[in-house]
Order: sequence, then C-alpha cells, then structure tokens
Amino acid sequence: MRNAAAKAAEVVKPGAHGYEFGGPYALGAFVISFGLPILCWAFAFLCNDVSGCPAPSLLSPRKLFASPSFSSHTGWQHAIDTLKKETGWPGFAGLINAEAAIGTLAWYGLSLFLYVLLPAEEVKGTELRTGGRLTYRFNSFISALAILFSCAAGTWVLGPDFQVWTFINRNYVQIMTTNIIISYVLATYVYLRSFAVKAGNSEMRELAAGGHSGNILYDWFIGRELNPRVTLPFFGEVDIKSFMELRPGMLGWVVLNLAFMAKQYKSYGYITDSMLIVVITQGIYVIDALYYESAILTTIDLTTDGFGFMLAFGDLVWLPFTYSIQARYLSVHPVILGPWNVLAILSVAGVGYFIFRGSNSQKNAFRTNSDDPAVSHLEYIQTANGSKLLTTGWWGRARHINYIGDWTMSWAYCLPTMLSGYKIVNSMLTPGSRLVTQDGMKGAAIPITYFYMLYFAVLLVHRQMRDDEKCRRKYGKDWDEYCEKVPWRIVPYVY
Ligand code: NDP
Repeated sequence: MRNAAAKAAEVVKPGAHGYEFGGPYALGAFVISFGLPILCWAFAFLCNDVSGCPAPSLLSPRKLFASPSFSSHTGWQHAIDTLKKETGWPGFAGLINAEAAIGTLAWYGLSLFLYVLLPAEEVKGTELRTGGRLTYRFNSFISALAILFSCAAGTWVLGPDFQVWTFINRNYVQIMTTNIIISYVLATYVYLRSFAVKAGNSEMRELAAGGHSGNILYDWFIGRELNPRVTLPFFGEVDIKSFMELRPGMLGWVVLNLAFMAKQYKSYGYITDSMLIVVITQGIYVIDALYYESAILTTIDLTTDGFGFMLAFGDLVWLPFTYSIQARYLSVHPVILGPWNVLAILSVAGVGYFIFRGSNSQKNAFRTNSDDPAVSHLEYIQTANGSKLLTTGWWGRARHINYIGDWTMSWAYCLPTMLSGYKIVNSMLTPGSRLVTQDGMKGAAIPITYFYMLYFAVLLVHRQMRDDEKCRRKYGKDWDEYCEKVPWRIVPYVY
C-alpha cells in the first residue's frame, strides 16, 4: 500500500489522466455544455400541446419554407414564423419568469429542509484516493415519502387543480430554464471553489483524477473537485454531489410525471393504462434508487467523476426533463393499450428490473461484506490493489450486466407511447373546441418519445468503455485476468 502523501501527489498531478468525452472542444465539453440545453428546449417546444408532437410543419419542410416571393430570406422568415406559431414560442424573455424561478428555488429549499430535519442514516463513503472516508447523510427515501404523501393529500382535496400540478403545467419551460441556469451557476461555483483544495487531504477534499487537465472549459465541464461540500447557515455541511444526484432532479422526475398525469385527467376525465405504466415503472426506478441510497457510494459518479457541469446539468435538467417526455406526451395524447399490451410491457419492465436490481444488489452486498451468506459462495479474483472482483453470479455473465437490466427497463418507459405522433386541429363537430388526432402523424414522434432508450444505449456503452478504462488503470493485470474470465462487456454472447 502506498502512503497517503504519495497518493495525494499522484492525484494532484495535472493532465495525467487525459481527456474523455472527445476532449475540450470537439464533440465533448463544448457541444454537451451548450448543445444539450438547446436540445432540451427543442424537445419542449417541438413536442407541444399547441399544434402537435412533432410540430406538424416539420413533416413538410417544403410547405414550411414556402414563401410567396420565393426568396430564401423570406423562406426562412416564413419557416421561423410558422414554427413560432406552432410551438407557442414565448420569446427569449418568456423562457423564464419569476413564478417559475421562485417555485424552483423553493423546491431546492424544501429538499434541503427535509435533508436536515428528517432522521437520517450516516454512512461512510468508499476510501478516498488520498486516504480517509467521508461521512454521508442519507434520508432521501423518507424525504421522498414526505413529499409524495403531501402531493397525494393535495390531490385528494383539490384533484388535478392541486397547485403543484397546475404550477408545473403552467411553467414547464420556465422551470426547465431555471434549472439550466442553476446548473451553470453551480458548475461555476464548484469549479472556482476547487482551487481551495490543498495538496494532501487535511480537509478530506481531493481533486477528481480526470478533472484537472488545466483546460478551463474541460475541467469546468467534467468536474474538478471529486466531492465538493458546502457549509450553509442552519443546514450545516451538505455534500453537493450526492444531494444533487438523488434529490431535486431524481424526485423532480417523478413529480413532473405526476403533474402530467394530472393534466391528462383534467383534459380527458380519465387516466390511461399507458400513463399508469409510465408513471409507475419510472416511479419504481426512482424510489428504488432512493431506497438503496447508500448504493450510490460505489457508483462511478461518486467514486470517480468530479462534480462539474456534466453532473450538475445531468442531475438537474437532463434527467428530470428528458426522462419525463413520455408522460408529457401522454398527457396530451392519451394512448389506450389494452390488457395484452399492458402485460407485455410490464413483463419487459419486470425482466429488466430483475437483472438491474439482482446485479446491483449482489455487487453491493459483496463489496459491503463478502462473507454475507447471500454472496459468500461466489468466486472472485483478489486483486493486488486490495479489492475483490466477482467472477461468478451476475458479474460472471458480463462485466456490466447491470446495464442491460437498466436498458431493458427503458423499453418499458417508451413502448407505452406506441407509434407516437399527434397533431391538434379545430374540431368540425364542436366549433371552438380542439381535437388531438394521429391523422398523418403516426410514428412521427418516435425520435422524441423513444429518444430515452436510444440515448441511454449510447450512454451505457460509453460508460462501460470509460469504466473498463478506469478499471484497467486501477487493476492492471488483474483486470486483464477478469476480462479473460468474463469476456462479455454488457450483453452475454453479443457484446
Ligand atoms: P457500476 O455499478 O456498474 O459499478 C462499476 C464499478 O464496479 C467498477 O468501476 C468497479 O469499481 C466495480 N466492479 C466492476 N466489476 C466488478 C466485479 N466483477 N466485482 C465487483 N466490483 C466490480 O457503475 P455505474 O455507476 O455505471 O452504475 C450504477 C447503476 O446506475 C447501474 O445500474 C446503471 O445502469 C445506473 N445508471 C443509470 C443512469 C441513468 O441515467 N438512468 C446513468 C448512469 C448509471 P471499483 O473501482 O470499486 O472496483
């Protein structure tokens, strides 16, 4: 075992780790940091309750650009004007408002209050590279229960007019913009603060191994400090990364889904089986993560990645707002699946959950106590580094078998939207009222409502490559031996 000082020296050696995500400018930091917020707004506007999902003109670009004078300038102007009308574009100033900003900050405030006030379990994190273990305060599960029971009570009394649901449905885009701004501010704050990290770890603070290349944009994006913490008046010390990872965004995803369910009920007077599947399966995924909160301590996010724009934006914007697209879609176009489709989709969800939970729990139990009777029969490699790598059980089937479970579940989130696509037209039968129809739109919204599973496949394959690289660096020959014993990366016999 090397001593802590040697480890610390290694950790603060700048640039030793190399770039990930395509480096600082090309496909990486710049595009993700400034392109993904635009993609989030694009989803919000192009799949809407004003004209359709997608905005119908997108399906006929010829008409969209058709202008009386045939000049390219007026063609573009015509297209922009049409899209503004079809998307309910509020103007740049309308992307945010005071109500949404105050409401969103109140949401963060509430999360903080519950974090401090509710009883919590104190758990030690994994060993830092510079030595020592941080203590984490975990109570996100009961915090979630407190919030969800309050919402249930509000809905019981006020139905779909409960203020939380109407607030979200009235200010959806503006709430998203507020969270985008918060993620930029937070990333900048933790980046600047990271320069106070001292060599060694007298304050148990350390830089992320891959987060201090010296390139400002890249380090700001990937996260310079591994586990930034802040001490707030009244609230005390808060671990920013674990707080952001599980509280405002993750639970925010469920709350957004519930608001969309309320919207469907208010518009149609019923809730469809498709909506219930989306809300329940995604809800179980989130509640599961909160219930097994301490399992977060061994994830790549906590042990390896610094906290920068990538995680701040991912936790606070990307996850809640793009993962809830299906419920938002169904709130306007209510799909009725019928019992056989419901059964088929629930079976997919069940298989996914079985693999996901089985594999994650097995690793967690083994890493917590390898003598636990539930895992003591499993074979493993004892690495020179000190850690043990499972070679039988779930982790003997593929090196990231948990990812295939997660990805299988993502199918169950998207399938309820079926051949998605709708437009909103004036009703011929009831003048003054509007009708949602799939006429000429079937399948047109698949890139939007199935985006999650496509993107998630890319994320998981990329994550597997990053993790393999990290483990090869960490375990050397022992990792090669593990790869020989377990050759499949994610899907046995396929990949
Ligand atoms: P994993 O839980 O897959 O953990 C990977 C780590 O486990 C490795 O770095 C290594 O850490 C250790 N490990 C690897 N092989 C073995 C083995 N054979 N035996 C014991 N330990 C081993 O990491 P993730 O953080 O990527 O995933 C956690 C969960 O979160 C997954 O289910 C994933 O699908 C999910 N997830 C979901 C996302 C979403 O947006 N919905 C995004 C990202 C993840 P060590 O250095 O300690 O040895």
